Amino acid sequence: GGHLLELRDLHVEFRTNEGVARVINGVSYHLDAGETLAVLGESGSGKSVTAQAIMGILDTPPAFVRSGQILYQGQDLLTRSEEQRRQVRGKEIAMIFQDALSALNPVFPVGWQIGETLRQRAGMSRGDARRRAIELMDLVKIPGAAKRIGDYPHQFSGGMRQRVMIAMALALDPKVLIADEPTTALDVTVQAQIMDLLADLRRELNMAMILITHDLGVVAGVADRIAVMYAGRIVEHADVRSLYKAPAHPYTKGLLESIPRMDVRGQELSTIKGLPPNLMRIPSGCPFHPRCPYVQQVCVDVVPHDLVLGDGRTSECHFAQEVRDDSAR
Ligand code: SF4
Ligand code: MG
Repeated sequence: GGHLLELRDLHVEFRTNEGVARVINGVSYHLDAGETLAVLGESGSGKSVTAQAIMGILDTPPAFVRSGQILYQGQDLLTRSEEQRRQVRGKEIAMIFQDALSALNPVFPVGWQIGETLRQRAGMSRGDARRRAIELMDLVKIPGAAKRIGDYPHQFSGGMRQRVMIAMALALDPKVLIADEPTTALDVTVQAQIMDLLADLRRELNMAMILITHDLGVVAGVADRIAVMYAGRIVEHADVRSLYKAPAHPYTKGLLESIPRMDVRGQELSTIKGLPPNLMRIPSGCPFHPRCPYVQQVCVDVVPHDLVLGDGRTSECHFAQEVRDDSAR
């Protein structure tokens, strides 16, 4: 059978005055019901743009899908009619963003904003929408939901605003929730609470989730699989456990070595040297080669394609096997 959501060889470009930036260069991934996929990468790696393409919210122009497919329940969203896409986006697939404050309208009470979605898209009456808005605020564990429904966004803390945005995203019972850096703007304690909430909701509602983040630290307890992005490509894809245990791409290995480990004292954290590539001039061969400690001449000359390592693991590295064996711990 097909997957709930599947991207096939997606290419996205930005047209700029200086030239064409190739921001997504053949991304494929899939998501099944109830599953959580973490999409990990530095800023500019293409992880948010991929999500924007799914949601149909690429800034056009200059950003556009050059080729590829975005299949939802087997139907390509890119070739559906505007009306058919609207049925899917926001309803079947919902998205939350890093910055709740700018996603919410400052001049309307939060309950009204949650209710607006229900009135507009589910045709609910004012009273029903209001009752459902309170239920949704309860669901995301906003204390005293019934009392707070008339409050404005600025009257909530950052974490509570994020919960309001999650409530809005859940209003139409989506099957897929895309969370783009949902905790980046929050302090560490609140981050953990929001991640716990998302994990609980995913289970309770049996949603599938795409969790986009630059922070490998937040995905461990939440995701089933991780897709690591670099220069608009998925360079490594694996289940969380095997990826943590033995990354098979030097970039992933570098990311893992740059986060503190609970079980190692007095460790020296390393960082990945160099900068992400200019997407208008992506390096030849392996796009990671200027930063890679494993680089060989073949890396400069030949683009690596997915090396399949078993258990559904893949790595876009000529030396994936060696890197994995080298990083096994
Ligand atoms: Fe490094 Fe070469 Fe692997 Fe690229 S293909 S990640 S340059 S070893
Ligand atoms: Mg982003």
